[in-house]
Amino acid sequence: MTSTTRSLAAVNEPDTVRRLIDEFRAEHPDSAAAAPAPASDHGHDYDLVVRARQVMTTAGIAEREIGVRDGKIVAIEPFGHALDGAETIALADDEVLLPGLVDTHVHVNDPGRTDWEGFTTATKAAAAGGVTTILDMPLNSVPSTVTGAALELKQLVAAPQAFIDVGFWGGAVPGNEQYLRELHDAGVFGFKCFLLHSGVDEFPHLEPDELETYLKTLQTFDALMIVHAEDSRAIDRAPKPDGDVYAHFLASRPRGAENLAIAEVIERTRWTGARTHVLHLSSSDALPMLRSAKADGLDITVETCPHYLTLLSEEIPNGATAYKCCPPIREVGNRELLWEGLLDGTIDYIASDHSPATLSLKDLQNGDFGVAWGGIASVQLALSVIWTEARRRGVGLDKVVEWMASKPADRVRLRSKGRIALGYDADLAIFAPDQAFVVDAKTLHHRNPLTPYQGKALSGVVRKTYVRGTAVDFESPRGRLIRRGID
Ligand SMILES: [Zn+2]
Repeated sequence: MTSTTRSLAAVNEPDTVRRLIDEFRAEHPDSAAAAPAPASDHGHDYDLVVRARQVMTTAGIAEREIGVRDGKIVAIEPFGHALDGAETIALADDEVLLPGLVDTHVHVNDPGRTDWEGFTTATKAAAAGGVTTILDMPLNSVPSTVTGAALELKQLVAAPQAFIDVGFWGGAVPGNEQYLRELHDAGVFGFKCFLLHSGVDEFPHLEPDELETYLKTLQTFDALMIVHAEDSRAIDRAPKPDGDVYAHFLASRPRGAENLAIAEVIERTRWTGARTHVLHLSSSDALPMLRSAKADGLDITVETCPHYLTLLSEEIPNGATAYKCCPPIREVGNRELLWEGLLDGTIDYIASDHSPATLSLKDLQNGDFGVAWGGIASVQLALSVIWTEARRRGVGLDKVVEWMASKPADRVRLRSKGRIALGYDADLAIFAPDQAFVVDAKTLHHRNPLTPYQGKALSGVVRKTYVRGTAVDFESPRGRLIRRGID
């Protein structure tokens, strides 16, 4: 811990960010917000009625009619009730009405690195994949979301581009402890930190002792800390990943680095009484200690990602940097244990960790795993990827929805999302679980057409997505910015 790491990067200084806000406002004088939702038609009982033989209710799949008014689910009745709506849709027999998914781990990179991704492309991709709420990660955009000013800039940039609802994480970096409270009060859903280099220099990591200091602060206002848990020293001492051989890259990110860092998170959680969450669990070795931490009553949760649950290191071709992410995709035995952890509840939920970059940053020409950016863009495919694998294992669609909608919503205290239930937002996805398709990166909405799922045959197509009762039309962005405790 050196004193030089205690101040914010120049691009994150509030004065610098305030100038960007002023510039943005001058360039976009009328960019107040997204298009308003169509007004309610009060000649009918409901703005929208959805009739379906298969509705994923909180008690499983049932025949239902759903009545929506002012963007909320206000009626759930038996099929045949003939609810009266200004607009009525009837699902086909092969379609299931799902609650819109909640993806709590998305890197939008806007403003600052919009050649990697942006709010327009990311939220369209999400909507096409049945995701109706994303929480944006605080890094890779410039500035990072580490002060209230940076959050304000992010919100200005995101509002006119959001096709679905968007919330924000704050960042916890050396030198921003004084800004945590203002970010919390402005409605971030919690704070993200790294325990090793984040990949971008303006978002430095915390040492374990600093993590503990920050947890003590967050504990005073009951905020959640989400952690990229790989140990800095362990990664520094691992073999270097240079070259196009995937096995070398895997060896450069050993399970031990994750195990060490997760042990630190667990014990600092125990010592401070804070609320914590382990991001993108890859190492199944960590499951027993997470299980025991939960049994001890610690307020710690865990997510994993579609790629760890479906892809195998043994099958990754050399030079295929589309598969590079950190922590890495591991062996078949590891994957099987992650599924066990998911099914027994040690792993709480699934998030995409949608983390796009430009094609040149993925070093496609040389396929050097040491050089390529680590990140997989999958917000649009996550549901189909997980459903295809779940079905193969005899796991029901209700579990998939729990892992990708209700549980993440609950953890981040989104009280009106993630379920088809009375009083909840009418965020809905019409899903055809038996329809198959072959992944073609060129047809995906995210900005740079690269995916490790290219050419894969998947089950499950999202045919239409509704955000607060309005169909996403991919032309008029009608999503809203959401804040913790309010939405
Ligand atoms: Zn991430």
